[in-house]
Amino acid sequence: MAEYGFGNPEVIEEEVDILIIGGGMAACGAAFEIMRWAEGTGLKIKLVDKAAMDRSGAVAQGLSAINTYCGENDPADYVRYVRNDLMGIIREDLVYDVGRHVDDSVHHFEEWGLPVWKQPGDEGKKLAEGGKPVRSGKWQIMINGESYKWIVAEAAKKALGLENIREHVFIVRLVNDKNDPKRVAGAAGFSVREHKLYVYKFKACLLVCGGAVNVFRPRSVGEGMGRAWYPVWNAGSTYAMAAETGAELTMMENRFVPARFKDGYGPVGAWFLLFKAKAKNGYGEDYGAKNGHIIKDEKRFGKYGQGTPGTCLRNHIMMEEIKAGRGPIFIDTPEALGSLAKNMTPKEVNHLLAEAWEDFLDMTIGQCGIWAGENIEPEKVPSEIMPTEPYLLGSHAGCAGIWVSGPTDLPGVPKEWSWGYRSMTTVKGLFTAGDGVGASGHKFSSGSFTEGRIAAKGMVKFALDNKDWKPDMARTKEELIEEIYRPVKTFLEHKNYTTAIDVNPHYITPKMLQLRLQKIMDEYVAGVSTYYQTNGKMLEVAENKLQMLKEDSLKMRAKDLHELLRAWENYHRIIAAEAHMQHIKFREETRYPGYYYRMDHNFLDDTNWKVFVNSTYDRNTGKWECKKVPYVQIIK
Ligand code: FAD
Repeated sequence: MAEYGFGNPEVIEEEVDILIIGGGMAACGAAFEIMRWAEGTGLKIKLVDKAAMDRSGAVAQGLSAINTYCGENDPADYVRYVRNDLMGIIREDLVYDVGRHVDDSVHHFEEWGLPVWKQPGDEGKKLAEGGKPVRSGKWQIMINGESYKWIVAEAAKKALGLENIREHVFIVRLVNDKNDPKRVAGAAGFSVREHKLYVYKFKACLLVCGGAVNVFRPRSVGEGMGRAWYPVWNAGSTYAMAAETGAELTMMENRFVPARFKDGYGPVGAWFLLFKAKAKNGYGEDYGAKNGHIIKDEKRFGKYGQGTPGTCLRNHIMMEEIKAGRGPIFIDTPEALGSLAKNMTPKEVNHLLAEAWEDFLDMTIGQCGIWAGENIEPEKVPSEIMPTEPYLLGSHAGCAGIWVSGPTDLPGVPKEWSWGYRSMTTVKGLFTAGDGVGASGHKFSSGSFTEGRIAAKGMVKFALDNKDWKPDMARTKEELIEEIYRPVKTFLEHKNYTTAIDVNPHYITPKMLQLRLQKIMDEYVAGVSTYYQTNGKMLEVAENKLQMLKEDSLKMRAKDLHELLRAWENYHRIIAAEAHMQHIKFREETRYPGYYYRMDHNFLDDTNWKVFVNSTYDRNTGKWECKKVPYVQIIK
């Protein structure tokens, strides 16, 4: 191994009370909040991120809007909006809890220096002082957010202390306790910069590694490869590590298929909500107005198409138009800008145009590259939009994730929904937030941060209540080295078998394995190539192929640390993909038309399926078990 700089890794072992895994919005929320409760307790807290916190996670490039700010709105109304968008099935206790606390987080962001747009006359007046924000929608407020993540990470670092943060370490697995298999006791991962293995023991941990991207074949292939809407560096670690530790997952059948500017995945929210632009078919017709009636069919869409259609139903209307041969779909940017400019001075028009560009520059710079490269001037040329490949996430317009213990002070909440400490999963000591929490979407950046704060309080209480408990990991350091560096060993053992380094019967490169996973998911589990359609038979094929892929994943090679990272990301993706596939197979209805279609049950069935689907995974047998969990409406 030495020849490749791969002698035995240096092993760094550390025991802490609480480990935060991830450095994104939820992790920053936890890091900021936790010291308020841990101060003076002597608890040792550490945060570990696979990347650099200043620019890690989904907010890496910045954002142009904060999508959850209640302000003058009632949090109960926020619950109604989330419930409608997610087709009736959410944990209303969790959503309400975010709604009632989220504004305080946004006030902090502004205090730390995040510029929030204000209504004329309120410039310079902070939100916390009653300043009125510019809203792009009922729940969204506009920001100059290119440095959003930087600002939030700075506050998190300051609160936790730089000495308690380790960046560039990818956590591969959680380890259960030797004496209690339903409890988590440690985690192991490797540095992506140095040849070092990190083993942490702890009483509690917050698993907040975001959602899962590149599970499905992306629309951007070839020269566009690597571009995706959600961040490619969130590889399903949250769902995979939680499942392998025995935590119950929920609503993993759910996914998000955003309709975004084609090829650059640029945001459309400001265009639709702020600039009041219309989406039109290839022939210039407002297909939404023309086809809106199709979702009124109660036999197929239940009552969900009667009022304001949710995100998946809006997708459905667009997909029907494309399938009918009337694509491509364009956002009519010239019309929108033209009508806004009617009563403006030339200076104001210039400002408006700058805002249109800034919307991309703040959060998806690549889209500006495409506009510039394709000579698109938005005031003159409409831009194409397209439904993307699916993503698994729990914080945006989707609700895949882990089943967590909820708040205890809300009326009407079933007792069994708060079995332990707030935000704890069904595994003792394992907490989650943000994309990790299932059945409670539409938290976005501010809500994920808020959930991190809520979890921090729960974890401190848990750690203090278990002060004398000593973690005892069920796996040895040697076993972890053997497993984590297996791809390196495989490479070194077999690399001389052929003369072409990537072609070898004894191993598979992480890139090839990823392409195979994406092909399976795309062709059998309702990806773009089948227009988001699947059925029970296709899912059976997918199940077999994923099983074989999982077997072959043991043969992944890693010729350097970068490939080792890619290998383990892929492993996490496979487990997340399996969970998604198993849940879709179990739910025999089409709950989310526009996100995916079970063609053998192509209708929404509230009588039999207005329930959560929860699952558990047995790491030893590789088997999944799904079950129905009753849905309870708490807010009328
Ligand atoms: P993230 O913030 O993604 O953080 C995940 C963290 O885990 C990262 O630090 C990552 O490096 C780390 N990590 C991953 N795997 C590992 C591992 N194995 N080991 C160690 N660390 C790991 N929200 C809004 O409010 N407004 C918007 O306009 C908006 N638009 C969006 C547009 C896009 C394109 C995207 C991608 C997101 C958008 N969001 C928006 C949503 C918001 O960004 C997310 O809701 C939020 O970031 C989720 O927080 P999180 O902490 O769960 O995950």
